[in-house]
Amino acid sequence: MVKSAVKVIVRTRPTANFAQGYLDVKDGIRAININLPKKNETQNVVNNQRESYSFKFDNVLHNSSQETVFEECGREVISSFIDGYNGTIMAYGQTGAGKTFTMTGTTANYKQRGIIPRCIEHIFQEISNKPEKAFNVSVTYLEIYNENLFDLLNNDPTGSDDYQIMEDAKGVTFVRGIQKVATTSEEEALSLMFEGEANRAICEHQMNKASTRSHCVFTIHLESRSRVESNGQIVYSKLNLVDLAGSERVGKTHSSGQVLKEATYINKSLSFLEQVVIALSTPSREHVPYRQSKLTMFLKDSLGGNCKTLLVANIWGEATQLDETVSTLKFASRMM
Ligand code: ADP
Ligand code: MG
Repeated sequence: MVKSAVKVIVRTRPTANFAQGYLDVKDGIRAININLPKKNETQNVVNNQRESYSFKFDNVLHNSSQETVFEECGREVISSFIDGYNGTIMAYGQTGAGKTFTMTGTTANYKQRGIIPRCIEHIFQEISNKPEKAFNVSVTYLEIYNENLFDLLNNDPTGSDDYQIMEDAKGVTFVRGIQKVATTSEEEALSLMFEGEANRAICEHQMNKASTRSHCVFTIHLESRSRVESNGQIVYSKLNLVDLAGSERVGKTHSSGQVLKEATYINKSLSFLEQVVIALSTPSREHVPYRQSKLTMFLKDSLGGNCKTLLVANIWGEATQLDETVSTLKFASRMM
């Protein structure tokens, strides 16, 4: 069997009306079974018939704490990142399923902090445990909305035509024009994350765009050099922490021009992401189609190969959300 380019973990959002009897999910079992009432072409339920699905993943986290999610998702990626390999953690799922909760967490409650603050914390911890090396840490915060780029660390995050995804001679991708801010402590890096969140909200208001319709990528850049060897090389690595746009299907009949335009961009970019991951897991591939979207162009050097790549598929266990849950789990299992 071919090793997949991506490790896939499912996380459920706790809910009052859990779809008991339809959604069979257990923590640690790594499998999810779904039994949907069968519908015909007109979306009416067919009497007494069920549609069944069975999915297997690298892990399933049901009713798990933020800490457990970090231990399952962040740890491994961070140690490889400190050793000089790129990494990517992406949260996928419908709006409301818990992507932002998983990546950022709630700002009000420190215990509920998500993967990004925990990665920041552990990276600075690991660095302080390696006095034999000199490290430089910096961060960027990129938003991709309708295939336009925005700098969330810029106080005027209204977008610029000058931002452009580039690739240097070593194959390192970067965005020309966006701020890359050097940080020397966990506190500094965290406050940049908060600044980005605030700018995301301001921009949402000013430009009438829902943040749930954009991809947000918080990237931690690391440069390390040995203090012991006199001509030690500088090693560069990147960790991309991605809050993907909501994956829900938008009914054509219900949507206005803008919503439909957003949905089209999102569907395309998520499907291009899938195509890239599938190509990376195919040994006989001739071509990986990175250039089809801004997201895959930016993540080009951080997916597959020696990179640790992880997808957290967030699902919402509400009975009313089963169709979206099935569609999220189908996407997630195609990525494996
Ligand atoms: P998304 O970013 O996918 O649209 P959110 O992260 O905003 O979804 O989550 C929607 C709501 O559910 C938020 O109020 C969030 O705090 C809450 N929530 C999501 N996941 C969890 C969880 N695992 N535990 C507790 N609350 C959660
Ligand atoms: Mg969100």
